[in-house]
Amino acid sequence: MTPELQQAGAEALQRWRQKEQVSASSGGRSASFGRLVHAHEPDFAHGVALYLDDITVSFDGFKALNALSLAINVGELRCIIGPNGAGKTTMMDVITGKTRPDLGSASFGQNIDLLRLRENAIAQIGIGRKFQKPTVYEQLSVFENLELALAADRRVRASLFSRLSGAQLDRIGEVMALIHLLPEAQRTAGLLSHGQKQWLEIGMLLMQDPKLLLLDEPVAGMTDEETERTAELFLSLEGQHSLVVVEHDMKFVEQLTEGWKKVTVLHEGRVLAEGTLADVQANEQVVEVYLGR
Ligand code: ADP
Ligand code: MG
Repeated sequence: MTPELQQAGAEALQRWRQKEQVSASSGGRSASFGRLVHAHEPDFAHGVALYLDDITVSFDGFKALNALSLAINVGELRCIIGPNGAGKTTMMDVITGKTRPDLGSASFGQNIDLLRLRENAIAQIGIGRKFQKPTVYEQLSVFENLELALAADRRVRASLFSRLSGAQLDRIGEVMALIHLLPEAQRTAGLLSHGQKQWLEIGMLLMQDPKLLLLDEPVAGMTDEETERTAELFLSLEGQHSLVVVEHDMKFVEQLTEGWKKVTVLHEGRVLAEGTLADVQANEQVVEVYLGR
């Protein structure tokens, strides 16, 4: 890096920090680990991370979600299955503020009304979302991608020029180990396999320490081995984060739900069945609309 570039980076970082301070004093929020923490932190004392009640979303009269109610506990790993068009992605759109429902309520913890927050604010209070297609910075290394994810705003390139604290470096190392990319730390992300890019994006979400992770078909396009490792990764996150995983790959769902774990089947915008994987696999309606095909 040239001295000019270093200087420019340092200045950009300082401008960014000043801006953060201004918003902290006016908006009552403070910077912590690069993520903005609001005065109204979610309250998880009752053990519920996410609560959806009676959510209805209509597109030109068609109900993509039809009085959907669902509760996810703190630290729970919940798999959601169901046929195409069941409303799984729309449900994630509602939770993340991308789509506003016509009816119903959605809360994070017992106190945060998600329907009153914008998409950015929802991400900042600790809800991370993984879309189906990996979105990483192809031209940057694995390490730099994770470093960038520490910044509250992904567009803030200035963070690249800041000096990382020891704790931040440790955290990046920890996450790289978790997502099996430690040996690829300096590798350009664009050169990673599809599965590795998916892991990197999950790692970027983890850098922001989300309480709730929403993962929409995370193993689509992965090899069998990558799929298995992804299940191991999610199982290792269970307990520390709540995870909502939408997937069609039944072997993957089986691995994730081993032992007693609840699975939710969505159909026509509402919950068709809930229970262990064995329960829902034995449910005639579920077989008819989904598994039997
Ligand atoms: P899933 O993820 O379970 O396959 P989606 O949530 O993507 O289902 O879609 C549920 C239904 O809502 C589908 O019939 C889909 O065509 C419809 N839908 C989703 N988004 C829109 C939209 N923006 N405009 C119109 N219809 C939509
Ligand atoms: Mg979908």
